[in-house]
Amino acid sequence: MAGKKKKRSSAKSGGRRAKTARRNSKLLTSLLAAFLVLAILAGLSYYFFIYRKRGPGGESGTPPAVFTGEISLHFLELGNKYAGDCILIKAGDTEVLIDGGSREQSADAIERYVNRFCTDGILEYVIVTHADQDHIAAFAGNKTYPSLFERYECRTIVDFPLTDKNTQTYAHYCASRDAEVKAGAVHYTALQCYRETGGAKRSYALAEGVTLEFLYNYYYEHRSSDENNYSVCFLITQGTSRYLFTGDLEKDGEKRLVEGNDLPRCKLFKAGHHGSNTSSTEELLSVIRPEYVCICCCAGSPEYTGIAENTFPTKGMLDRVLHYTRQIFVTSLATDVDLEKREWNYTSMNGDIMIVTDGVNFTVQGSKNSVPLPDTDWYAANRAG
Ligand SMILES: [Zn+2]
Repeated sequence: MAGKKKKRSSAKSGGRRAKTARRNSKLLTSLLAAFLVLAILAGLSYYFFIYRKRGPGGESGTPPAVFTGEISLHFLELGNKYAGDCILIKAGDTEVLIDGGSREQSADAIERYVNRFCTDGILEYVIVTHADQDHIAAFAGNKTYPSLFERYECRTIVDFPLTDKNTQTYAHYCASRDAEVKAGAVHYTALQCYRETGGAKRSYALAEGVTLEFLYNYYYEHRSSDENNYSVCFLITQGTSRYLFTGDLEKDGEKRLVEGNDLPRCKLFKAGHHGSNTSSTEELLSVIRPEYVCICCCAGSPEYTGIAENTFPTKGMLDRVLHYTRQIFVTSLATDVDLEKREWNYTSMNGDIMIVTDGVNFTVQGSKNSVPLPDTDWYAANRAG
């Protein structure tokens, strides 16, 4: 009996052991499954909330990647001390490059910057506002510095219908542009776009909810004594937000722009003519009421004048803009200025200015700093009061 009992009890305890083992292995499996689910969730969260926002190598200074719903607008430094425009707009995989100043060698600085955002070598849209060197030189190019048209596959090129320029730079620009057209690009003037003739469209969708619309400028079809008035003007719409670009349009051009278009309030305005006193007039500002103003210039440089307060960005222009916003940003800053000899060097003010926006929230990030101009020492010393 005792033996049987023992046997039974040992069989019983063996069954209990097996049960416990089964329970343990079940627990282990559940734990493993839970751990796996957690690991997958952590991985996915990292990918969606950190990696995709920051991009690979984000920690080492790579700017945040632009993802669905956001676009980025970039106001570039040009690698030298001269004023000029070059603006990159990125909406999803679509890139728009506006102007290529300020000298032929700027093409190197522009390419370096653009390649951080444009990875397929294709610029879907190129807009060239007018024929002045500080807007076309990098597209004109030369033997040492190949044109931006040679460095990228440009799909749609829109430029100015009129010019009075007969410079060598302009001739080079036309030759480079025409070669790009031969290679497959389409070319329209802004007037063709506005009128929707020859296959051109007034409005282009850059991404879902983001459009680029060419505005009417009286000087697309009338002669002006000022080349700047021929500037191509357009509006970017993102949801309910608008961003206005007017090249170097002057006072009279701005007046006619207001008369010829039903201009909306604009969140962002690329300051007309590098912050000249003859642009960004009250007539235009009172209609668009900008919240962010970006100025492409070398602040305080005597490139065009020896009168301190008329150097870009001028005191008059800043005083007018300050009625609407303090969010004013400037690419470069003149150093070692000699107003009499009109000599200077340069460094970054904000540097390359990047604005990332979903149409509601705006993040301004300068490659050097993100301090608005009215808060800078330069402003206090040169423009305040
Ligand atoms: Zn200019």
